[in-house]
Amino acid sequence: MTQRISHWIDGRQTPGTSGRTAPVFNPATGQRSADVELASDSEVDVAVAKAVVAAREWRHASLSQRAGVLFAFRQLLHERTDELAAIVTAEHGKVLSDSAGEIARGLENVEFSAGVPQLLKGGFSEQVSTGVDVYSIRQPLGVVAGITPFNFPVMVPLWMCANAIACGNAFILKPSEKDPSASLFLAQMWKDAGLPDGVFTVVQGDKEAVDALLTHADVAAVSFVGSTPIARYIYETGTAQGKRVQALGGAKNHALVLPDADVEMAADAVVSAAYGSAGERCMALSVAVAVGDVADRLVDALAARLPKLTIGDGTHPDTDIGPLITAEHRDRVAGYIGAGAQQGATLVVDGRQADVPSGGFFLGTTLMDHVTPEMTVYSDEIFGPVLCVVRAETYEQGLALINDNPYANGTAIFTRDGGAARQFQFEVEVGMVGINVPVPVPVAYYSFGGWKASLFGDSHMYGAEGMNFYTRGKVVTSRWPDPATSAVDLGFPRTR
Ligand code: NAD
Repeated sequence: MTQRISHWIDGRQTPGTSGRTAPVFNPATGQRSADVELASDSEVDVAVAKAVVAAREWRHASLSQRAGVLFAFRQLLHERTDELAAIVTAEHGKVLSDSAGEIARGLENVEFSAGVPQLLKGGFSEQVSTGVDVYSIRQPLGVVAGITPFNFPVMVPLWMCANAIACGNAFILKPSEKDPSASLFLAQMWKDAGLPDGVFTVVQGDKEAVDALLTHADVAAVSFVGSTPIARYIYETGTAQGKRVQALGGAKNHALVLPDADVEMAADAVVSAAYGSAGERCMALSVAVAVGDVADRLVDALAARLPKLTIGDGTHPDTDIGPLITAEHRDRVAGYIGAGAQQGATLVVDGRQADVPSGGFFLGTTLMDHVTPEMTVYSDEIFGPVLCVVRAETYEQGLALINDNPYANGTAIFTRDGGAARQFQFEVEVGMVGINVPVPVPVAYYSFGGWKASLFGDSHMYGAEGMNFYTRGKVVTSRWPDPATSAVDLGFPRTR
C-alpha cells in the first residue's frame, strides 16, 4: 500500500478525513513514493481550534523558556541534518549537499530567534510627565499561518516558524503538497525540543486548505512564499479578511557583468547560481546581462563549464544537478527552450539534447545567447536550468533592463570597480543585491524580501522585520498614585 503523509495536529500525526490526496514522487526515479492528505475546511477548523488553545498557553511561557526550546530545537536540527537532508532529496530531488545547505540556512533563523529575550526588548521613558512613565511592549498575535513552496521545504518554513514561535504565537504550516514529508520531521523535532502540543501544527493540503486558513477568523496573520500570481491572491484575500499578510512571489534575477569583471570568477559564480538546484531557487540568476565587450568572453566561459556538470540522482555524491520537481514542470521548461530558439535566441547549449538518466524528471543545462526582452524566456520566470544572456552596450542599458523588469527579488553585479558597484547598489530597484556575490540571501539578522512583483505586503521575512510581523506593539503610560500630584483635570492630557 502507498504510504500516506498525514497532518500534525495537537502534537501528533493525524490521518486525514477528507478522502482527498495528491501523489508525491521521487523526482530522480519518477516513481510515486507516497500520497499526501489534502485537508478540507473542517480539518483546518480542527487544527486552528487546537492552535488557539495552545497559543493562549504559549504566550505565558517566559522568554527564557521559549529560548530554551529554540536552543534544544537547534541542537536536534544539527544532529539530524543528514536524516532530514535525505528526506528533502527524496521528494525534491536536489543534491544532498544542497539539502544540507538549506537546513543550515534555516538553522540560522532558529539561532537568531533564540535571542528573543533581547529581540523583544521594548522602550522605556521615565518621567515623560511629572510622575508618569511610558513604555512599549510587543505581544504575540495568536495563531499565525505559513504557506510554503516546494523548492525549500525546510528553510522557508524555518524562516517563518522560528520567529513566530519565539514571539509567543502558535504556528500552522501548510507545506507544498509536492514535498510534504520534511514538515512532519520538523514537527516531531519541535515536540522533542519540548514545544507544547498545538504550538506547531502541519496541515497538508492544496488551495482548499489555503483558502480555509486565509478566511479563518482565528488566524491573525499569514506568511506566504511561492509564485507571484498566488502571492498576489494570498495578499488580496488575506488582507480583505483583515489579516496581516506578507507574501513573497517569484523572481527573474539578473547578473550584471561589467567589462572589467574577472570573467572566469564571474562565470563560476553565474553558473553556480543559475544551475544550482536545477535553477529551482527564487534567488537563481536566470539572466546574465553582459555589458560591452565582455559578452563573447563570458559566453565562452559559461559554455565551457556546462559539460563538466553531472546531472543525476541527488543522492549520488558526484551529482551536481538533480531532477526537476515534476514531469510537467520539466516539460514546461523544455517548452521555453523551444520557444526561445523559435523567437530568435541562439541556443549555445541545449539541455533537451543532454544525456540524462532515464526515468526521472531530468533536463540538461541550457545556455541561450542574444536573448531580448520580448522573448518569453526573458519575460517569464522559468524556474529551471536555463540561463539567458542579454547583451547590453552600456552599464546604463543594463541597469535600465533590470529596473524595467516587473520582478525585483535579487540581483548581482560582477566588477572590480568599487565605484561602479556602489552606483549599482544605489540605483538598482531590487530588494537584495550582491556585489560579486551571486546568491545574496541575507543572513538571519537581516531580512529577506524583494520589491515589486516579488513581494506583496510591507514586511520582509525573518530578522527584525519578522519579529515585528509576528508581534503587535502596545504602549503603556503609567502613573503610580502620588497624592501630591493628584487633581481633577478635565482638559486633554498634556505633559507637565
Ligand atoms: P506555488 O505558488 O505554486 O505554491 C506555493 C504554495 O501555494 C504551495 O503551498 C501551494 O500548495 C500553494 N498554492 C498553489 N496554488 C494555489 C492556489 N491556487 N491557491 C492557494 N494556494 C495555492 O509555488 P511553488 O511552485 O511551490 O514554488 C515555486 C515558486 O515560489 C517560484 O515562483 C519561486 O520564485 C517562488 N519562491 C519565491 C521565494 C521568495 O522568497 N520570493 C522563495 C522560494 C520560492
